Amino acid sequence: MSSANSSSTPTDRVAKQRGIPTRCNCGEAVSRFTSNTVKNPGRLFHRCPMGSEKDKSHLFKWTDKSVVEEIEDIQDLFDVLLVDNIEFQKSVRVGEAMMKGHESRNEEMEDAIAHCEEKIA
Ligand SMILES: [Zn+2]
Repeated sequence: MSSANSSSTPTDRVAKQRGIPTRCNCGEAVSRFTSNTVKNPGRLFHRCPMGSEKDKSHLFKWTDKSVVEEIEDIQDLFDVLLVDNIEFQKSVRVGEAMMKGHESRNEEMEDAIAHCEEKIA
């Protein structure tokens, strides 16, 4: 009894889904199984319950491949966030410089007010 065979690539006949699949093209929710073949013992995979050894038109995907895709996508997202963060830090620095400008103006104003108060007193 073998339920998975890595020499065939049934996923090539199914529209590509990146990352861990949730649904087959036929609409069925896919489930995760553990391979029990000699070639891939204990290897995890996702499969449509409608698929079989004979019917390869349903989703079949090794979980380790799905996970690598997930990580790659997260890496891409992380790169975007990193760039966003650099831009954000730049704008924070500009904001801080503006704040410092306002602070020194405030001090000048306070000095001027103190000076006026001295004159009044
Ligand atoms: Zn299916």
